Amino acid sequence: MQSAKRPPGPQDGLAASAAATKPLATTKTSRSVPDGAEAMTERDIKRLIPRVVQLETTRAPLPAKIPVSRSQVADVLPFLLSKEARYQAAFERTDGRDYLLIAGKLGDPVSKVELASEPHGPRAGSPVARIAAIARIAPPHKPLLGLRVALDPGHFGDIEDLREGKFVTSGPPPQNPETIPPDGLTEGDLNAISARNLARRLTSLGAEVIITRQGRVTRTENRAYVNALLDADPELAKRVGNRGLFLSALDLERRAERMGAHHPDISIIMHFDAEVNQVSADARHEVKIYVPGCFSRDSIDSKLGRARFVQQCASTSWNASAELAATLVKSICKTTGAVPQVPGKTGAVDPKFLLPVGNDTGVFARSLRLPHAVPGEPLSVYLEGATYNHPDIFPLVFRDRGTTYGAPGGFLDSYAKSLADGLVAYVRSKR
Ligand SMILES: [Zn+2]
Repeated sequence: MQSAKRPPGPQDGLAASAAATKPLATTKTSRSVPDGAEAMTERDIKRLIPRVVQLETTRAPLPAKIPVSRSQVADVLPFLLSKEARYQAAFERTDGRDYLLIAGKLGDPVSKVELASEPHGPRAGSPVARIAAIARIAPPHKPLLGLRVALDPGHFGDIEDLREGKFVTSGPPPQNPETIPPDGLTEGDLNAISARNLARRLTSLGAEVIITRQGRVTRTENRAYVNALLDADPELAKRVGNRGLFLSALDLERRAERMGAHHPDISIIMHFDAEVNQVSADARHEVKIYVPGCFSRDSIDSKLGRARFVQQCASTSWNASAELAATLVKSICKTTGAVPQVPGKTGAVDPKFLLPVGNDTGVFARSLRLPHAVPGEPLSVYLEGATYNHPDIFPLVFRDRGTTYGAPGGFLDSYAKSLADGLVAYVRSKR
């Protein structure tokens, strides 16, 4: 989940039902998985600051021509632009050539991109073409042989998560908000454990996997360092604006860089959701997956936003992302008993920021920075895999305490297995 404030929970009755007494298991790294990024170093931050400042202003290039036809853009356009922004993009035909016109705020100059005259299929070497090739040649016991997957466990797992309320405990609510209690789990912990389990399973199926974060990462020191840098440079601080958003932008650009360096065919951004208020016992347990899209008027106001929008129009993998997401939702529901989230009821996210993709698939287009920022057109899915303070889920998450969270047969491992099964089903369907 992103940015919503959440109270610690669940409380009382549920807490008492979860038998959890031992300290948090230390993070364990599978040997088959290469180490991913940990906390941003001061050198990383210095390197990324000019890039993020530049991206946020005006210099992101917009291509003059994109290799997809008007009919292909028309297919995906309903999912790429939010309802309020839809009229900000239009087609024009001049001298037999097709153009896509994009505007940001009213009165801004209109960006014009030429479209190809003929529809194009997946390009050779594109992730979609590579996945089709893997589906044809991979042996039955290694159905993902050579598939490149980048996993990003969301958040940090540290006290930043606690401060934002992305946190559950089987004990009493924490008295000191600066320390994660030993019986507490942050959303970042759940994401990292699930990512490690998924990586282990995918690797054994033949995939090549990287993870951007293995365990808890201390973001607080980075915040102090960035604050010190900005305090020393008022001009830069002025350009940066909101420091919280800027720090997030630095972090997400770095994650995107790490993922892109792996040249992934598929990028999987892993989150869990929570209900802001205590979940009622009869609430259905719902799951949803985001794919890139639903750009708002504001988000296509900058050249960066327009460039990312055009990149999505030209992507050969957008439809494949939506199809993969639907397959994963089905697989998760089969394993965890969840149901696909229905449009209109979207948890912490205002429905205007989401566009449902298909009927009752649990797949929604949403404009999120990280999926748009990973280069190379990988299939991209952003999981909200379970509502971790739901009465059906919370006791399961805590049940394995004292061994290792995500131990074989536990909830988090079953969840990872459902994702691996879904990926195999998707790849096999491309034979
Ligand atoms: Zn999250």
